Amino acid sequence: MGFRGEMMAAWGRRGSFYGKSSDGKFGNKRSQCSLGHSHRSKLESAVCAEYQQRARIDNLVLTCESHVYLTDAHILYIPDFKLRAIDGTEFYGESKGFETPEWRIKKRLWEHYGPAPLEIWKGSHSNPKLVEVITPPVKKT
Ligand SMILES: [Zn+2]
Repeated sequence: MGFRGEMMAAWGRRGSFYGKSSDGKFGNKRSQCSLGHSHRSKLESAVCAEYQQRARIDNLVLTCESHVYLTDAHILYIPDFKLRAIDGTEFYGESKGFETPEWRIKKRLWEHYGPAPLEIWKGSHSNPKLVEVITPPVKKT
């Protein structure tokens, strides 16, 4: 089966290639990483593998799906990953296969109200790419 055939098969399975489906968010199948997390996509699972490696090298604690509340309105955003160093320094990671309007709003909130830098990963599960780091201003409290 060539590329065209695979595309047609993808259409057939999912109804719409980019649409939501019962498989999960935007046609992504859940994917397990080597730590046994059930990730929402293969890309997320691949990014988890990247962070596991970085956690080992830099001695960081990796947490998945920790809850972050943004702004005084406490808008809930759940980044895919959180990494914490021994000195308490933290940063977050998010894998984005598809940009949604909701994501764009949360990204803008993070730019102003995020508690720590947020790394954004795109690309494919076989070649995940760190495309952007959002560093919010340090809070003046
Ligand atoms: Zn994982």
